[in-house]
Amino acid sequence: MALTRRRFVEALGAAGASMAVPVSALTQGSAPPSAGASAETLIALDQNENPYGPGPSILKAMGEALSKGNRYPYRATAELRDAVAALHGVERDNVLLASGSGELLKSSVLAFVDAGRALVAGLPTFETCTGTAQALGYPVRAIPIDAALRLDLPAMEAAASGAGLVFFCNPNNPTGTTWPTRDVEAMIDRLAVSSPGTVTLVDEAYAHFVERDDYKSLAARAARDRRILVTRTFSKAFGLAGMRVGYAIGHADTIAKLRRHTTSGPIPVASAAAALAALRDEALIRLAVQQNKTARAAAARVFEGMGLTVFPSDANFILVDVKRPPEEFRAACRERGVLVGRPFPGLKTHSRISFGTPEEMARAAAVFKAVLGKPA
Ligand code: PMP
Repeated sequence: MALTRRRFVEALGAAGASMAVPVSALTQGSAPPSAGASAETLIALDQNENPYGPGPSILKAMGEALSKGNRYPYRATAELRDAVAALHGVERDNVLLASGSGELLKSSVLAFVDAGRALVAGLPTFETCTGTAQALGYPVRAIPIDAALRLDLPAMEAAASGAGLVFFCNPNNPTGTTWPTRDVEAMIDRLAVSSPGTVTLVDEAYAHFVERDDYKSLAARAARDRRILVTRTFSKAFGLAGMRVGYAIGHADTIAKLRRHTTSGPIPVASAAAALAALRDEALIRLAVQQNKTARAAAARVFEGMGLTVFPSDANFILVDVKRPPEEFRAACRERGVLVGRPFPGLKTHSRISFGTPEEMARAAAVFKAVLGKPA
């Protein structure tokens, strides 16, 4: 494994320690599967979703909300905002809801990055912030991940001097790696002195899946600290990717700045009802986390059984060195009805695979064996 990692980091190093990444490279292959492909029969292991769908309590709440479709959803949105605030022990003004957390990542770039205030982000990482800044012609300092495939925190901190925004995805997508909270906080504390105008956005999309004692949400601190924003989503553990609900937590002043650059209005009634029901059903989230843990171990065994390196993941996907170009592996799996993650910049032989139900995973395992059994 050490050899693989070294080779991987060398490859990244060759691309330069801090560089601008063309938007086309960041977004290539990110389109959803073509509408012509029979979506029902495809096994979707490509988007880090919850394969089980919304639980019964959520479906019930959504169904009931549909009859309120004639009314504007202001009350439902306010109720959800209060529930999110209560969950994190913060005030209503510390919370901004949006149509998915992806929207808030874009808004953060609009609010805190410009021609004179760069964006600092990992490479690879979740691409919305980088893509938005690049599309607007703003400077991006893209910092390659380290030898352990983690965000290179010291290098990101060094690059953050004078930056407008640091995008810190924790756990990181697509590597699944996590930094202990104390290290992220220490970086933020140092930046408060060395670069007081810099806001750090900690993306906690995959927080539910982390089982490390040294990891906790920074939401409560973000509410007190103008220089921290935390984003979260209902798309992952809660199983509501199609309902489009995410939120940011921050100081009331920081949230007010973000709000000015957010285009989504109140959350549609059925989506707000779904999210509210999800927050109230604690058993559901425990089940989702347990199912994910079992699936993560089983998926790792499939690839390790083939002698491949699986990188430790704190999220609902694994990164596997498939020893061939990821687009080739992806196309071969797609032909056999299994969707896996898109290629990521710098990850030359790695594929990101999220998890299905046990039945789906059994079928997918047969496909992986058929594809990887052949020479690259
Ligand atoms: N952040 C990360 C790290 C993600 O992986 C994703 C989606 N895969 C998002 C944000 C956006 O999620 P959504 O817009 O569905 O909330």
